[in-house]
Amino acid sequence: MNRILLFIVIVLLVGCSSSKKDSDRILFAGEIVNPTSNQVVLFKGGKKIDSAQLDYKNRFKFNLPAIENGLYHFNLSPEYQYVYLEKGDSLMVRLNTIYFDESLVFSGSNEELNNFQLELFLSAEEEDGAMYSQYYELEPEDFLKKIASLKNEKLDRLNELKTESAMSQGGYELLMSNIEYSYNRYKEIYPFQHKRKTSEEIMHDLPKNFYAYRDNINYNNPNLTYLRPYYDFMKAHFGNLSYMACAKGCPNGNSGTGKQLHFNKHKLHLIDSLVVEKELRDNLFRNVAFDYLLKKKDEPENTEIFLKEFKNVSKNNMHIEEIKNLYQGILNLQPSKVIPNLSVISFDKEIKTLTEIGKDKKVLFYFWSGTNKKQYQEIFKRIEVLKDKRPDHELVGINIKTDYNDWKVILKNLDVDPKLQYHTENFKELTETLVLYPMNKAIITDNAIIVDGFSNIYYN
Ligand SMILES: [Zn+2]
Repeated sequence: MNRILLFIVIVLLVGCSSSKKDSDRILFAGEIVNPTSNQVVLFKGGKKIDSAQLDYKNRFKFNLPAIENGLYHFNLSPEYQYVYLEKGDSLMVRLNTIYFDESLVFSGSNEELNNFQLELFLSAEEEDGAMYSQYYELEPEDFLKKIASLKNEKLDRLNELKTESAMSQGGYELLMSNIEYSYNRYKEIYPFQHKRKTSEEIMHDLPKNFYAYRDNINYNNPNLTYLRPYYDFMKAHFGNLSYMACAKGCPNGNSGTGKQLHFNKHKLHLIDSLVVEKELRDNLFRNVAFDYLLKKKDEPENTEIFLKEFKNVSKNNMHIEEIKNLYQGILNLQPSKVIPNLSVISFDKEIKTLTEIGKDKKVLFYFWSGTNKKQYQEIFKRIEVLKDKRPDHELVGINIKTDYNDWKVILKNLDVDPKLQYHTENFKELTETLVLYPMNKAIITDNAIIVDGFSNIYYN
């Protein structure tokens, strides 16, 4: 039934044969079940290309003049997913927001490529888990064999698709990179996780060819900058390189009080020396800064040194405002400061500030989103445990990234007392001001004064 409906929709939207490319314009359209927002925004990297409103049937349509071929992403707040577009494409997507990625289906021109990309994304989520539960503890030779066999399965599928469909060279190379960098990333992580899993005392000796792919890493391909597996590879790669460079070259560098600063300076300089592409540089530098700043334990003097060094290697970083806000946010959450005075809305549509909520009592604030059911069910289970552990605290939940009415429905289904629940529409402000990385964090206050701004519901 759905398939037939989908087909009719494509025919109506596209005209006739959906895979025929007769002009350079791109039609990208779709239907959203259970929309969480009324508009869809299309991005190329960090740049907004266009936006489209959902109509009364929850359909949207982009009719784009000839734009660059390549990787885009579309956002239906708060989620996003990739789409690969080429001149002349007519592509349709259907998705149900409750299952987001698992429900996505592309049809039309380049459907094979886009569906396969999504498949890779979903299987990577699964394989990541298997790495930690089984494969990192394998001996290096066995580990390499395992990785090669997983990777070859994907490459075989890719080559099959290439012969079956009219996949362009650009599309093929993108998928190829997706596979290559995904599996090479596991090798960058391996020595550290292997040591942890096996409790070996020193880093395991690795065969000579273990990092053979490093001769062919492309640090300057703008087509890959926003490809998640490529970016994740880069993060793991620079973590590995920094650690190894330090272990070899710096006696005592990896210990003592300045350890975090020392290590992250290595990272900054390695990125500076290897990466030329401006956006990849900026993104990787941002990642180092977030990583460092969020390990909030470092001394203020060290943090000042780090930020100075950061500005020195990363001139005009496009994320500098965000990094400054993060730093300010961290300073504002130190013990004995008043909790930031943000407004949230109650179940009865009453607007309150965090300071008002925290007045004259002890409060543990926790945060959750309605977009991931498994995750919020875990959070509320944990909150039940915390009730016993902290009977003198009020446990106040703040919901982000969820529609107001959906939030109410979820609370009713969970059978949670709505009196201690609040909601916010402005998740970006809340996330930045309260430094919600990771979202499992908790903020503990006494009479609206911060006791611990960086607690975690799971270590409490
Ligand atoms: Zn060092």
